[in-house]
Amino acid sequence: MKASAGPKITPKSGQPTAPSGRGARRRCTLLTGAAVAEIFRRFASANPDPKGELEHTSPFTLLVAVVLSAQATDAGVNKATRTLFRVADTPEKMAALGAERLQEFIKTIGLFRNKAKNVILLSQRLVAEHGGKVPRDRAALEALPGVGRKSANVVMNVAFGAPTLAVDTHVFRVANRTGLSSGKTPLEVEQDLLAVVPREYGVPAHHWLILHGRYVCKARRPECPRCLIRDLCLYEHKTPEGST
Ligand code: SF4
Repeated sequence: MKASAGPKITPKSGQPTAPSGRGARRRCTLLTGAAVAEIFRRFASANPDPKGELEHTSPFTLLVAVVLSAQATDAGVNKATRTLFRVADTPEKMAALGAERLQEFIKTIGLFRNKAKNVILLSQRLVAEHGGKVPRDRAALEALPGVGRKSANVVMNVAFGAPTLAVDTHVFRVANRTGLSSGKTPLEVEQDLLAVVPREYGVPAHHWLILHGRYVCKARRPECPRCLIRDLCLYEHKTPEGST
């Protein structure tokens, strides 16, 4: 991503921002409202239509891919699902496949036995209780086997365009380093972000934060010299110029 020219905004460390986004509840960002807005304006300018990296062709295949992706890489999941979804891309076909045959398709993915069990059970539940469709609401999604809050957030956002924020390890790190959040748990970070992300960026925000954490603000050595929000970020241990 490339930084675009924008107004110069100085973050004011220690002065919590009044929430301007959705679901205001906590007041834990250390950035000014103008700095938060500028961060997301730059993300939008650099990558106007961000996409997730889990391959899918429908809400159901997305849901399966998300369940399989727990503690696994998107690339590893995509490798397995390319073959799997040619055979079973609906809840009916997946339920008919059965756990043992499903294991053969996904045995390269960590925790595959348990994941196979959950995918078959959730497929059966979709057929029995939801007419073979993936539900759009959080409670119904989280009631499915193997689906927690983070997975539900991804499905609601990517499949149905809801302004949810799935806080994975990348989003958690970026939010805390930049000062967008000081949350100590994924749920606190999610609530902080929902409170400060400008409404117009509610849907793409989680993709930008995941991609930024995966490719720029990396865990071990963040690539601060090429970071498009370097001047706004409050992280105290930025990687200096010339050392990446
Ligand atoms: S400046 Fe460095 S620490 Fe801050 S967001 Fe960018 S890469 Fe991450």
